[in-house]
Amino acid sequence: MVSLSGRQYDKSNGRLNSPVYERQLRETLERYELIFRATNDVLYELDLIAGTVVWNEALYTQYGYSKDSDVEKLEWWAEHIHPDDALKLEHKLSDWFEGKSDTWQAEYRFRKADGRYIFIRDRGMVQRGSDGSPMRIIGSFLDITQQKQLDRAKDEFISLVSHQLRTPLTVIRMYSEMLTNGLFGELNSSQDEHVRQITEASVRLIQLVGDILNISRAEMGHIAPDPKPVNANLALQTQIQEILPLATKQGKVVRFEPDTKIGTIMLDRTIFDQIVQNLLTNALRYTKPNHGYIEIKFSQSKDGYLLTVSDNGIGIPKAAQDRIFDRFYRADNTVNIQEHGTGLGLYMVKLMTETLGGKIWFESKLNKGSLFYVLFPE
Ligand code: ADP
Repeated sequence: MVSLSGRQYDKSNGRLNSPVYERQLRETLERYELIFRATNDVLYELDLIAGTVVWNEALYTQYGYSKDSDVEKLEWWAEHIHPDDALKLEHKLSDWFEGKSDTWQAEYRFRKADGRYIFIRDRGMVQRGSDGSPMRIIGSFLDITQQKQLDRAKDEFISLVSHQLRTPLTVIRMYSEMLTNGLFGELNSSQDEHVRQITEASVRLIQLVGDILNISRAEMGHIAPDPKPVNANLALQTQIQEILPLATKQGKVVRFEPDTKIGTIMLDRTIFDQIVQNLLTNALRYTKPNHGYIEIKFSQSKDGYLLTVSDNGIGIPKAAQDRIFDRFYRADNTVNIQEHGTGLGLYMVKLMTETLGGKIWFESKLNKGSLFYVLFPE
């Protein structure tokens, strides 16, 4: 867009000072043309009405195509998308066409002239007609093949390391539990105490390795929710049973009010359990012995199902509230009470909630308590 400054506009006759205006317009066009030619990213202008595409030089210099092929036809583009990505992309495009959004983004594999597929991030802006239907898309292809390869390598590394860690850790936990249970003979009280510490530490490590694995999978978008019919109240009760022995030992009260109107609902049970387990563990951790009170509710709301976990614990200081979902973040008032936290729990809960298309938020007052909300879409 060319801006009209005072110098381009002749005040005496109210007309545009055309030579200046034309020069500026020409310069702007030249600038755009240079950008169009100079970049290594493929840029395109797609006319959806005519079914034609104009590409910049990068399609020829970077992707190896020649100008005499049918590159300017929309079908040519479609034919060069990897068959395994084409259908998904088609669904995405038609959803997007029906929507109101002016921006478009997708990742898929695209074939180069030498037959190799590369991963591209396709981003564009749309121009719509007066009835809202898309007419023209101007966008770019960014080659993200290297980033994808790195992601895969990171994923494989993390899976391998976690597996290699988990197996020996499980052995340590198993034998220490057998020792505690007297399977290898009676332990004196000091031996018993030490073996219990070994068990606790190995349980914490197994949990940590599991969290790291889940986080890296979720960060890379490798967790596909798998909703199945679940009795949500029963699922919650099972999770509560898990923390009840420790809560009772610490003199804390756990209350659950099942909403009997909610029966079987569609949920990814593994993800649901991870979210609930983390919030319950925090509520338990951050309430004081003998005064702790934890309340869990699950109800239907107009946007989905709402889980709330409240406690009357130490609360979250105002200054820490913006960072509570950050990776490895722990508030100052926590560290003295609970030395063993990692600051990964809430980060993972948020990732998992978003993977399901849900939302998480909280209210908290220092030394009064916290209330966490998780909205699960229907
Ligand atoms: P951590 O392993 O430290 O519990 P989380 O990611 O689960 O890690 O939580 C991050 C931080 O958020 C905690 O260290 C604590 O400061 C705060 N927090 C989380 N839940 C509560 C709660 N129920 N009450 C008070 N503080 C909480």
